[in-house]
Parts: sequence; structure tokens; C-alpha cells
Amino acid sequence: MPELVVRDNATLPTRCVKCGMADAREALLEDFRYRPLWARLLGRLGAIFDRKASFCFWLCKPCDAKWKYATPASIVTFLLGIAAWLAGARYVLPWVLPFLPDALTWVVGIGYFVAFVPWLYVLDFMVDVLVKEPLVVSVRGIDKNGMVTLHGVHPSVVAELGTGAP
Ligand SMILES: [Zn+2]
Repeated sequence: MPELVVRDNATLPTRCVKCGMADAREALLEDFRYRPLWARLLGRLGAIFDRKASFCFWLCKPCDAKWKYATPASIVTFLLGIAAWLAGARYVLPWVLPFLPDALTWVVGIGYFVAFVPWLYVLDFMVDVLVKEPLVVSVRGIDKNGMVTLHGVHPSVVAELGTGAP
């Protein structure tokens, strides 16, 4: 999926932003926030450096339905990922541990529980990339001049605007 670099609030062609179909009928107003990398180090305070942008996207009916389905699908996948970790603790770990030498039992047992936090980060990233982003348009950057990099825009929309990223 190519990226589209476009000015905040730009008027997009009435072509489905996801599949490129001409004469898309569903309009969707979407607000984006982007926090520069360095501002993320400030935690919650970083919010004052958030850059905002909004667009009216055009979508065909099927792509509009998929867009609405993106958030619940992401939540369900995330919960399944947590369930998989719990199932590992309940069913896989007790089965594996007796086969390990004593010294390793503790390392593997404790390591599995400590790995829960990084697992949440990995899971969150995987859900975004594999489940959510294919269904929606997401923001990859907003520079200080208000130029917005959008990810997941159909090539025909990029071609019509003629402002794709190199
Ligand atoms: Zn479409």
C-alpha cells in the first residue's frame, strides 16, 4: 500500500480510498493525532506536542463496512492473544516443565510470566499491522507545515492527487 502525502484537511477525490472504486458514496470524517518520536519520551506531557489533522474520506459500501469492523476486530484479536498466553501458562507450561532439568525449570517458569508485558507490546503491534491497518487509513506522520503522511491509501487515489511519497 503506497503512502500519500497531503495537506491537512485536503479535499480527496470521490474515489474509494481503500479499493479505488470511482464514485464512492460513503463519506467518513476522520481525525488523526500524531506525536513526534521525541515527544513520546515525555509520557503524558508529550500530548501538548501532538499534531492534529482531519480528512473526509470517501469509501464504497463494502470498504465502509470493513472500516467500521476494524476496531472491534482489533480488540477481539488482542483478547485472543491474551487468552493464548493464559492457555500457555495453564496447559503448555505444566506439560513442558517436568522434562527440563531442575535449574532450568525456574528460569523458564518465571521467564514465561515476566514475558507477559513484552508480549502485550508485540501483540499490540501485530494487531495494528495485521488486523487494523489493512482495513483503515492510518497516519504515519504530520510535519510542522501540516503535511500529513497517510498509510493504506489505494494507488489510484494517490495517482489522482499526484502527491505520493517517493
Ligand atoms: Zn472500496
